Amino acid sequence: MPGQSCSHPGIGYDGVIKRLAVLLARQPMLRKLALSTPGVRDLAWRFVAGENLDAGIKVLRELKARGIRGSLNHVGTHVHEAAAADTATDDIIAAIHRIRAEGLDAHVSIKPTQIGLDIDDATCRRNLRRALDAAVADQVFIRIDMEESPYVERTIAIFEELRDAYGAENVGIVLQSYLRNRDTDVERLAAAGSRIRIVKGGYWEDPGVVFRSKTDIDQAFARDIRVLIERGTAPAIATHDPAAVALARQVAADRHIDKGAFEFQMLYGVGRDLQAELVRDGYAVRCYVPYGGDWFVYFLGCLRRLPAGSVRRIRARLARSTA
Ligand SMILES: Cc1cc2nc3c(=O)[nH]c(=O)nc-3n(C[C@H](O)[C@H](O)[C@H](O)COP(=O)(O)OP(=O)(O)OC[C@H]3O[C@@H](n4cnc5c(N)ncnc54)[C@H](O)[C@@H]3O)c2cc1C
Repeated sequence: MPGQSCSHPGIGYDGVIKRLAVLLARQPMLRKLALSTPGVRDLAWRFVAGENLDAGIKVLRELKARGIRGSLNHVGTHVHEAAAADTATDDIIAAIHRIRAEGLDAHVSIKPTQIGLDIDDATCRRNLRRALDAAVADQVFIRIDMEESPYVERTIAIFEELRDAYGAENVGIVLQSYLRNRDTDVERLAAAGSRIRIVKGGYWEDPGVVFRSKTDIDQAFARDIRVLIERGTAPAIATHDPAAVALARQVAADRHIDKGAFEFQMLYGVGRDLQAELVRDGYAVRCYVPYGGDWFVYFLGCLRRLPAGSVRRIRARLARSTA
């Protein structure tokens, strides 16, 4: 199964961990062994809430205690059977009801291919409408994640239709700055009042489709951050890159834009010190909280993204905290 957005091999990845991650993803026996190893699970729960919705809710409560909001994601992508897409949607609806019942300020993030986009647009649209009916009733915001480039046009078209039907305050979209030839999406969708999460882009794609160099990606991301902070509606700047965070802060300060008018978003377990610093400084921070039975592939993606030496340091910290 292709990875989630966490799977971008990107900058600063550790060769040994990468090879291990690829091996584990391909070898079911080794994977089973890894899953039964306590150390692996301890490490995984730093980035993944756990295997079920209860674990996701528990993490949302912990984040709330630290002044951080959440966005729940039931991990999964590329579902090819309608029944499985319907079941995944049922699970998402259960999460929406639970967020409401718990009184949490949490969003739900949905990957279109988990709920039918690989089958056809109609299945995905039908399931998104089911989720949105529940979300509007429970006052929970739905964010449509963006996946690999062949899905971009279709995802945006479905989003626009549902934004117009349900209201921009109920459903938002993710746009990826690394895409070549799509630099007008942010302006166009922001002008229509869309709630946009801007990201650098999380998939390893052909260089004809995406920028590959850090300089080009960072430049495109900076351009989109400026547009969104200045003209977006409730924009979300999703990054762990301190330079991008600093730029967003600076643009907002220069334009006298209130700190509460936009959000920083990060992945659960990544950039924890930066998250805490932003909360301390009065900014809104929301964590993307993955949970569910398919957590392993997501977790491997995170391992691959960690800078060299991080796994060793985290393991040492975990050992100290459990000693
Ligand atoms: C809340 C949120 C939602 C996202 N949704 C999407 C989406 O819908 N579609 C999509 O294509 N992409 C999505 N992404 C991923 C995004 O596109 C980037 O791939 C990712 O955020 C890394 O870029 P960066 O801005 O953090 O900068 P980088 O310069 O790539 O990274 C900055 C630092 O963060 C560390 N880091 C970054 N990502 C991870 C990770 N996963 N695990 C461990 N360390 C990491 C890096 O090692 C580096 O030290 C999302 C990211 C976030 C934070």
